[in-house]
Amino acid sequence: MIMLLTDSIEKLKNVGSARRTALAQIGVHTVADLLEYSPREYVDRSIISQIAQLHEGQLATILAWRQGAAQSTQGRGKTITRVNFSDGTGQIGITWFNQPYMAANFKDGLKYFISGRVVRGLSGRLTLETPEYEAQNAQGLSAGRIVPIYRLTSGLTQKMLRGLIKQALDGTKGQIADFLPENLRIANGLCRRDFAIENIHFPACGESFYTARKRLVFDELFLLQASLMAAKGQLRHETKPFANMDIAPILAALPYELTADQAKVVAEIMNDISSGFALNRLLQGDVGSGKTAVAMIICYLTAKNGAQAALMAPTETLAVQHFASFKELFDGLGIRVGLLVGSLKAGEKPEIKAKLADGEVDIVIGTHALIQENVEFKRLGLVITDEQHRFGVRQRAKLGAKGGAPHILVMTATPIPRSLAMVLYGDMDISAIRNLPPGRQKIDTYTVGKSYHPRIFAFIRKEIEAGRQAYIICPLIESGESEVRGQRSEISEVVKFAEQLKSGVFADLSLGVLHGRLRSEEKNEIMGAFARNEVQVLVATTVIEVGINVPNATVILIENAERFGLSQLHQLRGRVGRGAHKSYCILITDFKNEITAKRMKAMTSTNDGFELSELDLELRGPGEFFGTAQHGLPKLMLANLYRDLDILELARNAALGMGRVQFPPLKARIDQLLGKMQQIAL
Ligand code: ADP
Ligand code: MG
Repeated sequence: MIMLLTDSIEKLKNVGSARRTALAQIGVHTVADLLEYSPREYVDRSIISQIAQLHEGQLATILAWRQGAAQSTQGRGKTITRVNFSDGTGQIGITWFNQPYMAANFKDGLKYFISGRVVRGLSGRLTLETPEYEAQNAQGLSAGRIVPIYRLTSGLTQKMLRGLIKQALDGTKGQIADFLPENLRIANGLCRRDFAIENIHFPACGESFYTARKRLVFDELFLLQASLMAAKGQLRHETKPFANMDIAPILAALPYELTADQAKVVAEIMNDISSGFALNRLLQGDVGSGKTAVAMIICYLTAKNGAQAALMAPTETLAVQHFASFKELFDGLGIRVGLLVGSLKAGEKPEIKAKLADGEVDIVIGTHALIQENVEFKRLGLVITDEQHRFGVRQRAKLGAKGGAPHILVMTATPIPRSLAMVLYGDMDISAIRNLPPGRQKIDTYTVGKSYHPRIFAFIRKEIEAGRQAYIICPLIESGESEVRGQRSEISEVVKFAEQLKSGVFADLSLGVLHGRLRSEEKNEIMGAFARNEVQVLVATTVIEVGINVPNATVILIENAERFGLSQLHQLRGRVGRGAHKSYCILITDFKNEITAKRMKAMTSTNDGFELSELDLELRGPGEFFGTAQHGLPKLMLANLYRDLDILELARNAALGMGRVQFPPLKARIDQLLGKMQQIAL
């Protein structure tokens, strides 16, 4: 049967409304979607084992015929069907439970491929466990070859999916056009796309699989990069270069010398803002690496060039903190700083808005209120977003759209492996601060079980008696129920823990409780009290993760540390060690599995966020890297950013070297992907 790639999946034989619904669950709506639904893994059933040679534990495929009649017996509410097979070298009995029809499935005079794990049955003889089988004269999709295994959903089976994909391949022969220009394809040593699609499903041999996979991984990464670069091209606005590049006054006003990395990044940015094109740069730097100083210098230059700067923080608390430190620095330099957050008093908001519109404020610090509400600027020249991983591609674009073409600087304290940064921020230039300012102490990190609570609490008390403060972090409880229920249990967990401490070991200390469901005034009040050391122990959920700066806090205790990813643990640890005092991070977990053990070991052995992020990516394994959907990017089907680094480089260079996309099929693919990204980011 002939069909088109764009046809609905119902065009296929054996697809009715039930299967259509099941296929929709895995994102397959059209014939093309089905062909692009790549296998999750493969089993090699191309090698046929002789029954006489089978050994326990082996994954084996035999080619055998039924020997004698099948026997069905009833026992304990189960029907047990046993069929004996022979291949001339030996015999093997295979058992099925509650599938009495199996007896009739194996015909006289036919040979069958049967695959499964070789185990020792109850009788003590070898058998095949949960076997898959296929007649030798059948299509040959599930045996006698390298067999694809797909991600399934209920209503689908491997065999069914293989059959549908085979139908789609046969029905669309000659239709799969190549969207890569021929010269680019050959220059990168890639096979044709139709060959790749066919062999990713039903590889003729191991080598064709690798050839096919390379092509499809390349496609995935190349399209993503090319799309992001197209977006970047759209963001690459011309803008009047800043003329005044004198930073001596602000350098003199800062209480420290810039580190080498800070100076390098400042130079990169100054180069951008004097180039005639808008800055569009990501600044990565570990917690405490001093990104704020870079932001301050660029804000200073913006003000000195007669434009306004906006700094967006992800939380009010952080915005208020930034506001305080900016004011302290800029008041002396004659530059006016304002604050715009949701919780301003009734009269204050219109006032600051009016000042921004009239150009009476040079630098404004705020939250996403800055893009959400209609805030007008007299001349917006720079937008900085701090801790950006909470802002998606779309939000960035929205910012860029405000006030013509302002410079955009995005700062993130989540160090991201290079490979990931290249994919996630392909639309931006990237800078990194890798070294911390001098004199920083290493935060001592320990992992202990819950039985250590009394000792740890005693240790915290000692620190507090010495005048210091502590964080105690409880994880969000994921209940898997409705969001509201989930949040409620989050609160009860942290509140419960705080109450235990308050009525127990820390009865005489001042405790504060912070979680996501508090109103922002309440949060600010508690954070303020903690910053003034009126609260000595802050019991909190991860709402404190982002950017809070209380240099007097020296201990952070993290409950159920196994529930956090490495990057998040590292972020949390960065809350301490911000002042002159020796600081500690204590990870509490009773979990003993391998991944947890590796994470804990990594945390105790290094303080380098970039190193930890590489490891995090590695431990999370294929596919599951920090939820790309959160970044407004589509999920990758095949590419594994940890292992496919070489193909990623290839794809990036190809995308960079390509210039403007001319080839219509490629342009169509890129536009399609850009459309998808916009949807995700919403
Ligand atoms: P982050 O990158 O996490 O935003 P901050 O900008 O908050 O880091 O800086 C962390 C701390 O380091 C601040 O207290 C800041 O004053 C200090 N700091 C920044 N740069 C330097 C420097 N070059 N020398 C000494 N201290 C610095
Ligand atoms: Mg910061």
